[in-house]
Amino acid sequence: MKKVTKTAALVLAMAMAVSALTACGGADKAAETANTEAAGAAGTENADAGQSSAVTTKTEGVLTFGTNAEFPPFEFVAGNGVIDQYDGIDIAIAKQIAEENGMTAAIENMEFPSLLIALENGQIDAAIAGMTVTEDRKESADFTIPYYTATQVMIVKEDSDIAAAADMADKKICVIEGYTGEICVQDMGYPYEAFKKGTEAVMELVNGKCDVVVIDSATAQKYINDNEGLKIVEDASAFESEEYAIAVKKGNTELLDMLNKAIEAKLADGTISELAAKYTEEVTAE
Ligand code: GLN
Repeated sequence: MKKVTKTAALVLAMAMAVSALTACGGADKAAETANTEAAGAAGTENADAGQSSAVTTKTEGVLTFGTNAEFPPFEFVAGNGVIDQYDGIDIAIAKQIAEENGMTAAIENMEFPSLLIALENGQIDAAIAGMTVTEDRKESADFTIPYYTATQVMIVKEDSDIAAAADMADKKICVIEGYTGEICVQDMGYPYEAFKKGTEAVMELVNGKCDVVVIDSATAQKYINDNEGLKIVEDASAFESEEYAIAVKKGNTELLDMLNKAIEAKLADGTISELAAKYTEEVTAE
């Protein structure tokens, strides 16, 4: 590498810092690549930002996002959501991006492991689902720049003796099917039981049928607020940082560019951190 622009060098340095931190789920290289691509997107900033003429969507004038509305505070079903019955940080971001580009946003709710297949099939234009960028997933979809950093944590009963990931060795572990939490526990070589929904796994824990649930940090916070007698145990050396990004069908560079520009702007002007704070408070206050 001989000549790099200042921004590209900075982004690369950030990407390296991120990759040094990441571990299970194969998220390490993915984060680096995503950030390097972000440098490209930032470098091609042009005068037509905000126009969506180059973007072709499944339904004209509609940006169809797939999600799995079982992941508060990012996506959940509410009485009166921002898009139909759907609400959360991701849903609010989706709505804003569509509208700022002259489209309306639509949500297709499905199981988490179906999202990347739905992208390939053209059933949805993009997947926004608190989805961690991993090397594996990058084989079947393209990812935007990351918009949120999370980590896996352990939810246990308040009186549990689990204080680190290694303490799960002889415990009954619950995860959610297809989530990075499942990949982490698999990588550690521990047996586990996988559930379709976070709420189901947490119910097992509450009912004493499992000892620990491994799930993303912000969602874990919601579950411990909703259920008495649970606490969160973190282990930064076992579960390192993960980056959430929006996925598009491989090769859909027009849509990827549009989404990257929007995310970049929303990170820079504080919109995403405001939404994260708002929905985290809301779910906590319930
Ligand atoms: N971040 C986790 C993953 O990507 C969980 C995402 C989700 O359930 N929506 O697997």
